[in-house]
Amino acid sequence: MQRRDFIKTIGAGSLAFGACVAKAQTAQTAEHTWKMVTTWPTNFPGLGTGANKLAELIGEMSGGRIKVKVYGENELVPAFEVFDAVAQGTAEMGHCAAYYWKGKSEAAQFFSTVPFGMTAREMSGWLYHGGGLKLWTELYAPFGLVPAPAGNTGVQMGGWFNKEIKSVADLSGLKMRIPGLGGEVLKRAGGTPVNLPGSEIFTALQSGAIDATEWVGPYNDLAFGLYKAAKYYYYPGFHEPGTALEAIVNMAAFEALSTDLQSIVLNACKVMNQDMLAEYTARNPVALQTLLEKHAVDLRPYPEDVIAKLRQIAEEVVSEIAQKDEFSHKVFASYKKFLQQSQQWSGISELAYLQARDLG
Ligand code: CA
Repeated sequence: MQRRDFIKTIGAGSLAFGACVAKAQTAQTAEHTWKMVTTWPTNFPGLGTGANKLAELIGEMSGGRIKVKVYGENELVPAFEVFDAVAQGTAEMGHCAAYYWKGKSEAAQFFSTVPFGMTAREMSGWLYHGGGLKLWTELYAPFGLVPAPAGNTGVQMGGWFNKEIKSVADLSGLKMRIPGLGGEVLKRAGGTPVNLPGSEIFTALQSGAIDATEWVGPYNDLAFGLYKAAKYYYYPGFHEPGTALEAIVNMAAFEALSTDLQSIVLNACKVMNQDMLAEYTARNPVALQTLLEKHAVDLRPYPEDVIAKLRQIAEEVVSEIAQKDEFSHKVFASYKKFLQQSQQWSGISELAYLQARDLG
């Protein structure tokens, strides 16, 4: 009896061991091995780590059937070549921001952020339930790309300056790193917008190659040490009120996936879209305290008349984009309609509540 039990135990053990080996083999044998190129420095807090998390999620959710290796900025291609690299199939996937691709289509900018436009909450509403993602998918299809929202920074900061901004005239002649439509607004206000990838900002600011910069918000700005190169930290980031990050997938690679794997990729992006905003919501307040208390940063609001003028310019800039081509007009019309509809509700919900809370 004892011997038989012993043999039975050994047998069960071998079976369990065999199952483990089989599982490990499944996990190691990916059906699809992908590269993900990004516009962010490797492992950069929030953005780069968000891309890493997205790759991990796709691996986990697919049980190892898709394996994604992440490449930071310049590891495989420079930041601003990510779109082309994924379109051409050099990489199967990218993590970036759509306003970097305004050279491909002006309309792309609506899918990242618009000065005085939607907040993160409103962007998600428009993209997932207001027709935004459908238009985005239509815009990228001719490039052979499938887009998906895959992160949001929330409201950004106005930026870092070495002089006080007391009036719009103080923006005149200012060379500032500011991408997308925000850059166009600065240009009309008399400044010179420059677009630099994140990794080049600190050196450019410190050397005086640029006079001012915006990046993201306290969490990311602290990580780059921007407080060491500029004195004043202005808010709010009127130019980026809820910047959506994007995942782009090479269409041929996407179509080569079975439908369950396609769903896994898109839903992993959806998880990251929420998770990144949660991370910024948790980290920004702590980083702001560090900037103010440890690094004695001079925090200032933009004067009201400066904001009023910039808002007026932004309206012109954004509506002019609608005149560029038929598709841009379609995207502008959809964006504007959603924002107008959302305005009243946001006013009597988030805004009214935050004001009520602050009164206490
Ligand atoms: Ca920014």
